[in-house]
Amino acid sequence: MEHKSIWEDYSKTINNNIKPFKNIKTDILIIGGGITGLTTAYFLKDTNKKITIIDKSLIGKGVTSKTTAKISFLQQDIYGKITKMHNSKIAREYYESQKEAINIITNIIKDNDIKCDLEKVDSVLFANKESNYKKINKEKEILTSYGEKIKDYQDNIIKNGFSVSNTYTFNPLKYLNSLKKIIESKVSIYENTIATSIKKIDNNYLVTTNNGTIKTNIIVLACHYPFFIIPYLFPVRTYIEREYVCAAKVKDTKKITSINVDKDLCSIRYYKDYLIYGGIDHRLTSKIDYGNNYREIKKDFINLFNQEPEYMWMNQDIVSNDELPLIGKIKDNIYISTAYNAWGMTNSTIGAKIVSDLIKNKDNKYIKLFNPRRINLPLIINSIIGLFHYLKAYIEGLFHKSNPHYVKIKGIIYGVYTDLEGKDHKVKLICPHMKCSLVFNKEELTWDCPCHGSRFDIDGNIIETPSIKKI
Ligand SMILES: Cc1cc2nc3c(=O)[nH]c(=O)nc-3n(C[C@H](O)[C@H](O)[C@H](O)COP(=O)(O)OP(=O)(O)OC[C@H]3O[C@@H](n4cnc5c(N)ncnc54)[C@H](O)[C@@H]3O)c2cc1C
Repeated sequence: MEHKSIWEDYSKTINNNIKPFKNIKTDILIIGGGITGLTTAYFLKDTNKKITIIDKSLIGKGVTSKTTAKISFLQQDIYGKITKMHNSKIAREYYESQKEAINIITNIIKDNDIKCDLEKVDSVLFANKESNYKKINKEKEILTSYGEKIKDYQDNIIKNGFSVSNTYTFNPLKYLNSLKKIIESKVSIYENTIATSIKKIDNNYLVTTNNGTIKTNIIVLACHYPFFIIPYLFPVRTYIEREYVCAAKVKDTKKITSINVDKDLCSIRYYKDYLIYGGIDHRLTSKIDYGNNYREIKKDFINLFNQEPEYMWMNQDIVSNDELPLIGKIKDNIYISTAYNAWGMTNSTIGAKIVSDLIKNKDNKYIKLFNPRRINLPLIINSIIGLFHYLKAYIEGLFHKSNPHYVKIKGIIYGVYTDLEGKDHKVKLICPHMKCSLVFNKEELTWDCPCHGSRFDIDGNIIETPSIKKI
């Protein structure tokens, strides 16, 4: 069994652009080379502007390399949730944005003859707990009112579900690889280049990176979680959800994807002769024994499918406190697209379209819906609740039972992991991003921030941002 996603072998096929630079000038700087960054570059490539993408590691190594890659508008009970939190008009607009995103992404694939194993499948939403049947019925009712054709669905795992059609699956890294090839002749790409600060100088921005500085007129933050805290206060507007995924070859595959609304979330899709199963969806600040969560999902997988997983991985996505993505302008000439609520294939695509339309001064009917500077009551209430979650995780992290032993040197606490050869690896237990206490993930041998999702290896090197400093 390998601790990596089923797609990660494909990221090796993406050519790297590790070229050193000192100081460069560009018109548009896209920070982040995942699906958001590359799709934005795709829409901007013909604008006669100089476009540059930087990525802290390699293209296709971020969250997109660990997704389950369902391209769907059936997103658990999202329309019921948005109707309750906002209103039915906003829920309908969100639905339309997802349908449009599906058209855009499938057209990009068809127009450019991209070989990324795109497959049209039905998508199923289900609840196995009777207490959740109401949520399913509500979602059915809303989608029927939008004109979707709904069919009831049951099988050996699914007790009560329904399906919709015109949804898809694909291989996300084959897609990213092709997008990269399409844009490469018009866009400069620098990998292993981490943005660490942004300064305004006259009408331009000066972005500092580990390689050199970049002077730019426009910045697109496509880096999943922004690395700065002020301005914009991103950590207050959002929280992180983590999910664990297993995959193994099976004898029978189906042309469906499925997802449930029960708390112990379970999602299924197939890829060639593999079954991909997602489970134990939790807010990052709870269930912080991340190594143990792996062991639990492995047990679930063996119970359900009677075999061991061949691949296991975990992934995390950002959820905004009012359930709608954050897409658009946050400041003069700085744009963001993120907080996709674990539905980033559609939302990154519509996000890239909105941001590129804003840069081109074109109208887009979803600008208001996803306005990243919006303030509303659910956002305020959930942001306050979120602060308590952060505090709880901070305190729990300090005393966490899965941590290896501690040493205190000159008043600073270090966590020490001793490897199989007896060598000690010592790191400070404080995340440089917002000073949360780190917890040890025994399965992957990483130090993870239970508040905002930064991750470090046993020697303190960054695996995942928002921290831009090693520990
Ligand atoms: C378990 C799980 C399953 C999911 N399944 C689905 C699904 O079935 N369907 C769906 O639609 N969505 C799904 N999602 C959500 C989806 O995967 C994400 O929303 C999406 O991949 C995010 O893409 P991105 O480009 O914004 O981020 P990323 O792919 O992470 O790209 C951001 C890039 O920015 C770089 N970066 C970060 N900081 C810096 C910096 N300071 N300087 C330079 N570069 C930087 C990173 O290295 C990274 O490459 C799932 C999420 C999870 C957690």
